[in-house]
Amino acid sequence: MISAHPLALSLRGLRMAYGDQVVLDGIDLDLPKGQVLALLGASGSGKTTLLRLVAGLLMPTAGTVEIAGQTVAAPERGVVLPPEKRGLGMVFQDYALWPHLSVARNVAFPLEMQRLPAAERAARVTQALARVGLGDLADRRPSELSGGQQQRVAIARAIVGAPPLVLFDEPLSNLDRELREGMVEDLAALVANLELSAVYVTHDHAEALALADRIAVIHRGGIAQLASPAELIDRPASAAVAEFLRLGTLLPARCSDGEWVIKGTDIALGPGPDAAAAQVLLPERSLAPGTHGPAQLRAEVRSMQVRNTGFALSLTIAGTDLPVRLLSAHPARPGEMLALSYSPDALRWFPQAG
Ligand code: ADP
Repeated sequence: MISAHPLALSLRGLRMAYGDQVVLDGIDLDLPKGQVLALLGASGSGKTTLLRLVAGLLMPTAGTVEIAGQTVAAPERGVVLPPEKRGLGMVFQDYALWPHLSVARNVAFPLEMQRLPAAERAARVTQALARVGLGDLADRRPSELSGGQQQRVAIARAIVGAPPLVLFDEPLSNLDRELREGMVEDLAALVANLELSAVYVTHDHAEALALADRIAVIHRGGIAQLASPAELIDRPASAAVAEFLRLGTLLPARCSDGEWVIKGTDIALGPGPDAAAAQVLLPERSLAPGTHGPAQLRAEVRSMQVRNTGFALSLTIAGTDLPVRLLSAHPARPGEMLALSYSPDALRWFPQAG
């Protein structure tokens, strides 16, 4: 049932080891009610393990999981609630719909398990289908629906019991890219309208940025950063986060006589940290062709791809093999030298690698 507790999910000191392999450690996070949290990370980073700990499909080695104020896992205190006692909604990769049941019966399934009276069940199913915009399709079979509609059925089934938290396990990962791009927008709008409290696992940064109120970037079994999408792209907490989100080029930088330059060149970078060497992120979104900005670079065009939104150029900074990318309104030929402008304020500095 929907809860009055201000936090939909709270994790403290969560640790998970398979034998002596520690895959998650020191996980602390709070998800306010009504927000969508994306768990974003590369394959093997530990996202699925974290989702399964919340669902109750795995037990943590240490730490606590609270859902809407109720402790559902705390191994040190002997608290272990199985998945069916956690009252969560779940949306899986393949939607997991019963092919022989109508849309309405699929959505009613969790309520039948709870043995709700038939009239109340029917009313709730009608309401859930209306909320996902499928009010007219209750009598169809899943095979008579588009992929997007099937996904809405899966979401209706996940929310029909008014759960305090809905878990999404890479729901778009089985789709090809073109289809996925269209569905991300629809799903983002739907999730926002439904005002769900949700945890959404994905390895796709575009999906996480589009859908989530907050994103936890999972890296090597820990939370590398927990922030809103806008904060994350503006202020990545580490070079690893910037790299994973493909925010731009990480340049090796060196300071000599108070002047920061790209290492191995005399290309000036403006003011930097109090150190002798660093890594600096040159964000792709801060780069523009031309000489209008406060600072400039010269770069050689390596290749170009035509996109529906412009010309995607791959370049290297002149005199180096450091790659930069740029979406340009104008085409360019390989070998051409371009002037690129950026603002030194847009640079983000990190400690030197290693
Ligand atoms: P992700 O979902 O981010 O791809 P996972 O949570 O599936 O990552 O896996 C995190 C790490 O835990 C990986 O190194 C994986 O090999 C390991 N792992 C996952 N499941 C098991 C298991 N049942 N036994 C042993 N190691 C596992």
